[in-house]
Amino acid sequence: MLLEVFIIQEGSSLLLLSHSFTKKKYKIDGNLFSGLISALSMFTTELEIGDIKHFQTGELRVLITTYKNIIFVGLVDDDPHSEFIEISLKNIREEFLKEYSQEIENWSGKISIFEDFRKKIDEIVYTEFSKYFIEKDFPKNVISVVRKIQSKFESKYLKFIGKETGIARAETQSSFKSLKKQIRRELSLFSINNVSSTNEQELQIDIPMCPICRGIKTPEFSCKFLEGFIEGYIEKSLSLGSIQVRETKCIAHGDEHCRFITNLN
Ligand SMILES: [Zn+2]
Repeated sequence: MLLEVFIIQEGSSLLLLSHSFTKKKYKIDGNLFSGLISALSMFTTELEIGDIKHFQTGELRVLITTYKNIIFVGLVDDDPHSEFIEISLKNIREEFLKEYSQEIENWSGKISIFEDFRKKIDEIVYTEFSKYFIEKDFPKNVISVVRKIQSKFESKYLKFIGKETGIARAETQSSFKSLKKQIRRELSLFSINNVSSTNEQELQIDIPMCPICRGIKTPEFSCKFLEGFIEGYIEKSLSLGSIQVRETKCIAHGDEHCRFITNLN
């Protein structure tokens, strides 16, 4: 899974931007890393431009692509889902060059101009994640991938990926009642569930055999992906602005089921 992205200027080895999706303990010193990558990339110049090269360093895999003197690096942990990560990295490369090619030519050396690009990286990565999840064997891939990455990924990113996937799965509903039915059916693809409401503003969803957190023990509520998924699903279904879904019980936390609540006010 894609853990971090580095964008480095070739030659100077200057780190233009690093962006991490993981919790702190997995972060790597970006400046040290960019020197290493710059050195590594010298051995790859004979390869086709724009191609993606892979290096294995211990448990991590490094994906590198160089174009127009900019090196794009994806740090990936060992897993078989590299296909869509390569696509993500290629899209990041394309968008970055589209946005900054000219600026880099007369660049003042101010690194802060690249800060805004983080949003773009997030957008690209969430979109590719959700595409991959939906196009291939939904929701089997979701469950296996999310179970694997959730201890490493920052929870806000898990939630975003879930939300993007929920939005992509949802269809516009005419009423609250049909939404309830639709959510029940959609979540039954993951596991049995119970959707209830006391009024048309509140929704409570219980999942007694949550496939995302089953067998895991954490002090916090851990099903951030599902929290985001339900949130995106409801927002898109009812064409609402931003709503909040919260997990208030979690099997990983020792509860008898995972519970998600939302207020549509
Ligand atoms: Zn849970």
